[in-house]
Amino acid sequence: MSSLWRVAVDAPLPEALTYRAGPELLLQRGQIVLVPLGKRKVRGLLLGPADSEPTGFELKFIEAVDAEYPPLPEHFIRWIEWLSRYYLYPPGPTALTTLPPLSRQVKERKSKRASVVPEMAPSTPPVLTEEQRRCIDGINAHEGFNTHLVFGVTGSGKTEIYLQLLEKTLSEGKSGLVLVPEISLTPQLVQRFAARFGDSIAALHSQLTDRERTNQWWDMIEGRKKILIGARSALFCPIENLGLIVVDEEHEPSFKQDEKLKYHGRDAAVMLGHLKNCPVILGSATPSLETWNNALEGKYRLHTLKNRVAGRELPTMKIVDLREKPEPSKNYPMNLPYWMSPDLYLAMSETLSRGEQVALFLNRRGMANLVVCPSCGHTRECPNCDINLTLHAGNHLICHYCDYHENFKQKCPDCREGQMETIGLGTELIEKDLAPFFPGKKISRADRDEIQNRIDLEEMVRQMEEGETDILVGTQMIAKGLDFPRLKLVGLVLADVGFNLPDFRATERSFQLITQMAGRSGRHVAPGESPGSVIIQTFNTDHDSLKFAVHHDFEGFAAHEISFRKALNYPPAGRIVSFRIQAGDLSKAKQTSRLLASRARALQERHEPYKGLEILGPAEAPLARIRNQYRFQILMKGPRPDVLNSFARQILGDEKWIPAGARILADVDPLHLL
Ligand code: ADP
Ligand code: ZN
Repeated sequence: MSSLWRVAVDAPLPEALTYRAGPELLLQRGQIVLVPLGKRKVRGLLLGPADSEPTGFELKFIEAVDAEYPPLPEHFIRWIEWLSRYYLYPPGPTALTTLPPLSRQVKERKSKRASVVPEMAPSTPPVLTEEQRRCIDGINAHEGFNTHLVFGVTGSGKTEIYLQLLEKTLSEGKSGLVLVPEISLTPQLVQRFAARFGDSIAALHSQLTDRERTNQWWDMIEGRKKILIGARSALFCPIENLGLIVVDEEHEPSFKQDEKLKYHGRDAAVMLGHLKNCPVILGSATPSLETWNNALEGKYRLHTLKNRVAGRELPTMKIVDLREKPEPSKNYPMNLPYWMSPDLYLAMSETLSRGEQVALFLNRRGMANLVVCPSCGHTRECPNCDINLTLHAGNHLICHYCDYHENFKQKCPDCREGQMETIGLGTELIEKDLAPFFPGKKISRADRDEIQNRIDLEEMVRQMEEGETDILVGTQMIAKGLDFPRLKLVGLVLADVGFNLPDFRATERSFQLITQMAGRSGRHVAPGESPGSVIIQTFNTDHDSLKFAVHHDFEGFAAHEISFRKALNYPPAGRIVSFRIQAGDLSKAKQTSRLLASRARALQERHEPYKGLEILGPAEAPLARIRNQYRFQILMKGPRPDVLNSFARQILGDEKWIPAGARILADVDPLHLL
């Protein structure tokens, strides 16, 4: 006697395969099994008995059950099935993402590295503010699955709310999961949790070794640890008795995975909470418009915190027009760099003279982002990508999209006459320009050139905390999560970076970045003390993102921006699936994109439900070539995710029609359209 079973095997196949099983195997849905596939032996997730025997070929036998892993819990299997279907990604590789990278170590070896979570002296919870109390009571008034949006200004005590909700979860004998953007998974944050919950905390992030990850995974599965803090991938730890999921900074684009399984950590968390029937808490000072719209429509429950804790005021905001030429004055030097207005210079001098700290934000690194010959107009571009090279450290030209770099040569390599000139602004140039104006002050830079790992990040944080740094210059790396008591002035050097990106979310991103960056200023001012301040420099004083940001008016901004999106059926008004078509050969990329578009239009002709969908393209992607791959794009828009999903699935079909050498990458609810 043998039986038939469906197995999601570790291979790029759109559906599970059917296998036979001999009577000696004790099988159960959720087990990891070993099966033959072609000449190989692969792992797979056992999904359950098959209804019927496929005809036309001989079925193979399941070889063994991988007894190392307990069967995945039912809610978790259903979540994997949803992920695979919704994000158009093969079920086997999706399922196997849930396993730790290494097999379990039987004997614990003493690690020489510091422990993943530091030991902390226990902290006692503060007395909650009335807003915090109301929010927690409001959340606890509901049982089971609900999605709650905690919309609270920066410094309103959202993290404290998570801590107290988790306390309740643990007291009920359940476990908690806290997702944060990788970049804010700082020692500061983990310590705050460890101080409250002692050694019940496990953490998962990109800087752990495979052995450390594997150990953290088992600590959660076997209940030695009760709260898992991690970046988006922590969702894949199959915690059996999950009682609460928190997604902090839910608007952060880094929750979306950009390759392979292109899931959004926030949306996947909401689905996991739904399937497990436990509450999901989304927190932000600048919610994504998708989440905000869900709250307005009543799908998510809204809890608002309008004030910072302890009577601390929000910072004062000032917009400075960089088009205005500075008046001659004896109050400031006349040779200020063009990017430093007298307002910014004076505010910096004053703040520094009080022994307080300044942060300057610019979302672009390097010295200059354009190198051009004034005689012949030649610009240095990456040979692999359609993008200008950026000048770093005075003599190094680097591509920000691939690993290409070359030495900067003053003489134009094209006409061999002109002297190359550098144009544009980056964090490195700011650091260099600043130094002569603030002698004796310590300037630190935080960007991807300067901070490449967790140790660099910890050192930057320490220098800020201990007051060694006077001026911090950084990219978006410094915009989130950080809490520095002595930081009193934030300058946004050039808010315009990012205003005009060819992406419908550009304005939303700008608003978020400005607000988050402003939120770093004056987080610990005492009542009565003057609040922190923010200076926003721009050539576009009436840009939509600025008008609302200066008044801390998220709701006004959201209403304004959503009305634009509605007019064009962009999210949150509609849904998008994008297809990116890539090939090393330009004509093949073009041909494949046309083929895809004609399949889509033919399908639309034949099926009534698809008639209302919009198909845009094919068009060259805004970044038309990256790493020598030519890129085309087709966008599909529609009001209903299920209709869009089945349309996309049918267009792709068995994928056998895709010409060799070309690739099609589907992205459901894409965040990045470049
Ligand atoms: P958010 O996450 O909303 O930015 P945090 O939770 O980080 O805010 O709180 C900001 C600061 O206020 C932190 O230093 C935190 O320890 C402190 N804090 C939070 N809640 C309270 C409270 N009820 N009373 C006093 N201080 C608080
Ligand atoms: Zn490149």
